[in-house]
Amino acid sequence: DRKAQLAPLDASKLRITLTDALRVVPPPEEQVVGKSYTDHMLIVSYDPQTGWSDPEIKPYGPLSIDPACSVLQYGTSCFEGMKAYLGPDGKARLFRPDENMARLKRSAERLALPPFDEQEVLKLVKKLITVETRWIPALRGYSLYIRPTIIGTRPSIGVCASDHAILYVILSPTGPYFRTGSEGISLLALGDPVRSWPGGTGGHKVAPNYSPGFKSLEYAKELGYQQVLWLIGGKITEAGVMNFFAVLEREDGDLDVITPPLNGTILPGVTRASVIALAAAHPSRIILPGIPNTVCLHVHERELTMSNLTLWSAQGRLLEVFVSGTAAVVGGIGRIGFEGEDLLLHPYKDGRGPVARALFEYITDIQEGRTEWENWGVV
Ligand code: PMP
Repeated sequence: DRKAQLAPLDASKLRITLTDALRVVPPPEEQVVGKSYTDHMLIVSYDPQTGWSDPEIKPYGPLSIDPACSVLQYGTSCFEGMKAYLGPDGKARLFRPDENMARLKRSAERLALPPFDEQEVLKLVKKLITVETRWIPALRGYSLYIRPTIIGTRPSIGVCASDHAILYVILSPTGPYFRTGSEGISLLALGDPVRSWPGGTGGHKVAPNYSPGFKSLEYAKELGYQQVLWLIGGKITEAGVMNFFAVLEREDGDLDVITPPLNGTILPGVTRASVIALAAAHPSRIILPGIPNTVCLHVHERELTMSNLTLWSAQGRLLEVFVSGTAAVVGGIGRIGFEGEDLLLHPYKDGRGPVARALFEYITDIQEGRTEWENWGVV
């Protein structure tokens, strides 16, 4: 049948055209994600008659797409956010890239975009990183942000699945996401409008989840907060593009690490899963830096409300609130605005409490190849 003749996405067919005008890599202080892009991009397109084209690495530049096409009319687009890190050993590493590829595949399926083998995409990402290694900042906490994107390019305003697509990958050098001091990151908790809802797309990394939140973010910034903490019916979901954690002191001296459950309204973060696994491994399998081995971390995926936080804070049990994501790795929260009042968290050096700091250090060490754990760092 015709479907069988459609070309699959095949990394071995890659063609590379290098630019003859290399850009100047900006100095670290100018490395803010999205400010500059590397010399090359990866691109491969899907056509319903022929299947996937031969992938190409070529000079970074504009795309040409039909004004009627699906992505411009219906936001048919999904993407990933991952990073390449350069360790003290001079090797470039990805962090758990299979997880990002699996999520990209789920997102594309959610939008009925054409199917592909995600391992082929990973091979292409690795190729692109190899071509652009000179762009990976060698400083601790700096990295090369990787943005794989798939857009629906069916050239028609007909309201249906896009049977044409472009998959491309662009790279942007980046430093620390939040440059905060002891005040930590500030959040404004908002429950109206919501970011996601039961049965919606909140659990997928699809473009239509993001732009409807920009107005709330603008509002939060106007009131002096850095990000929105998204609530649904009083329940905490996630903060900006980061998952949410609270650390509670227990009567037995151990710590509870609590994060909202994955119920379809929250993005299943790769960093979230890593935080959960590492926290659960302390102290039986690893000792997190600065956390005594007499203190056990008990991880709970359960519902959390602002009233929970307010109560625990008043009782003096709320030790830390932190967020996790590729951009910030693990960042400490200093203040949460809610219904006209600020919940102030304990001020810590650089905003991170002991648990957030330990997880930040441990994950950064895996990413930059100073520590090995479960093959999460992929050269
Ligand atoms: N939530 C949302 C809405 C996000 O966009 C992201 C970034 N991908 C995250 C959480 C964090 O996910 P990850 O740890 O995979 O970066």
